[in-house]
Formats: sequence, structure tokens, C-alpha cells
Amino acid sequence: MSLLAVGTLAYDSIETATERRTDLLGGSATYFSLAASRFGGVSLVGVVGTDFRASDTELLRSRGIDLAGLEVAQGKTFRWSGRYEADWNTRHTLATDLNVFEHFDPKIPLAQRAARFVFLANAAPEIQARALAQVTKTDFVMLDTMNLWIDIARPALLEVIRRVDALILNDEEARMLTGEGSLLRAATKALALGPRHIVLKKGEHGAFLIGPGAHFALPAYPVEEVVDPTGAGDSFAGGFMGHLASEAGKAGPVDAAALRRAMLHGTVAASFCVEGFGVERLARTSRAELDARSAELRTIVTV
Ligand code: AMP
Repeated sequence: MSLLAVGTLAYDSIETATERRTDLLGGSATYFSLAASRFGGVSLVGVVGTDFRASDTELLRSRGIDLAGLEVAQGKTFRWSGRYEADWNTRHTLATDLNVFEHFDPKIPLAQRAARFVFLANAAPEIQARALAQVTKTDFVMLDTMNLWIDIARPALLEVIRRVDALILNDEEARMLTGEGSLLRAATKALALGPRHIVLKKGEHGAFLIGPGAHFALPAYPVEEVVDPTGAGDSFAGGFMGHLASEAGKAGPVDAAALRRAMLHGTVAASFCVEGFGVERLARTSRAELDARSAELRTIVTV
């Protein structure tokens, strides 16, 4: 399998209505890779500081994630803190400290430059563009972003959006990016920015895919108790891209049916992520658990 992810590795501090945890392993590329690794090999390109715990490197390695593109730089690891309202739907970013990520210049190892599937995880758009410029043979590139970048780096973001196959956004980001209140109109407007496909995430209401020959919606898997939704979007992308990449070769080019299956596996990966703080639940999820829940979700949504 040939799947590459570029993005943040982080220490997160998270407050929910009932609990507060500090310095949890997180980051957009971390969640993505942990979810994708259940479907096959994934290479991670990112940067950490000298404070990055050896046990965290070991955790990623133990899940089969290729860390040849992980740089250790002088300084502190990227840090993010956020607080959730009791209904989970509103998240407030309390602080973002880029630290070593501020001067990160992604270097894709030679062996990964021919990766066919690439996920440009949430990061500064200039970093995403520099990573994209180094890959040569892609079948499917998906890009994620965040309100911060839409706000402070819109021109650079629009430039990189134009060059990818799929853009993944949550409802707030879609509205912010396009200025449209209606999500369907926002998705249509986002398509006009260049990507062939848009994936819209609507939290507990599920996700929606729009593109040529593909118009598909799936509810979230009904989780009994949400513990921490951090990383749900990245885990969704990990299940989605991991499954897509695992089918490549077998199923030929990415078609609408493959994208629908990817939506199912992304939805299920996200459901495991939210059942624990940080990566604690996702990191110990087995392929068998993912497959069992996928089968269950298929049953739940069949009319
Ligand atoms: P999600 O909940 O899927 O949006 O992802 C949350 C993860 O994104 C956390 O682990 C954060 O460390 C990471 N993150 C937060 N803000 C940023 C940012 N501006 N750029 C890149 N990664 C970020």
C-alpha cells in the first residue's frame, strides 16, 4: 500500500464538561496515521521537538507506522488546547503554539515520493503545498484544513485546494470558506474551487460526499458515550484514505463505489476515536473491531 500523511504531531490539552487532561498525544497526522494503519502501511511526515516522549514514538512504530519522514527539531513539540461545550457541538480553541512546527519544511523521503494516496492533514497551507510539490505519482490527494488557516492564510489555502482531488471540511469550515449558510450550497461552491470531491463532516450527524457520480450521505455510528471528540475528523480521514489505499490495485481507479466504502470505514474509525481521551481508544482498536462495527453500521443504514 502506498499512503502518505503530512501534518502535525502534537501535545494537546483538552477540557470537556467533566474532565481536563493535559499533554495528551495528538495532532492531525497522528490521528490520521493511527486510523489508517489498521488497513495497511502508512508513512508519516512531520516534526516533533526534543520533548517528544520516546513512548509516543514507540506507540506509533508499534502500529506499523513508517516514521522515516519524522523529523526531531530543537525546541518544543506543537501544542494545542481546546474546550468543548457540554453538547460537544461547540469547540473553543484556547491556545495554539506552533513551536517547532512554525519553521517546519516537510521533506518527503525518496521512497515515499511515488505514494499514490496522500493526505495533507491540517497544517499551514504553505507546508501542505511544499509537501504536495514533492510527490509525483498520486492517484488521490485529500486535503484537510481548519478555521485558523481559512482565517489567516486564505490565498495560500485556495492555491493548494485547487491542486487536490478531495477537500474535507466540517460544517463550520465549509461555511467560513465559502460564505454560504446552506451546507449543500457551500459544498457546491467548494467544488468550484477545484477539487473533484468534497467531504463534509457534520459531527454526530454524519458525513456527506459530493462529486461527479458520487452523492452520498452516511449518519455517524451511534456511540453510547462520547468521551472526547478531538481527532474525530482526522480519524475519519484515516479510515477513509486507509481503506481507499488498501483497495487500490484490486479495484482499479478510485470510483464512486470505492468512495462510498471509504465513507463507511472513515465513519467507523471516527466512532472509536471519540470513545476515549486523545488517542487512547483509537490506538488500541483492532481491524476486527473496525470490520465488525462497519458491518453493524451497514445494517443500521440499510432500508
Ligand atoms: P480534529 O479534532 O480532527 O479537528 O483534530 C484535532 C487535532 O488537530 C488535535 O490533536 C490538534 O493537535 C490538531 N490541531 C489543532 N489545531 C491545529 C492547527 N492549526 N494545525 C494543525 N493541527 C492542529
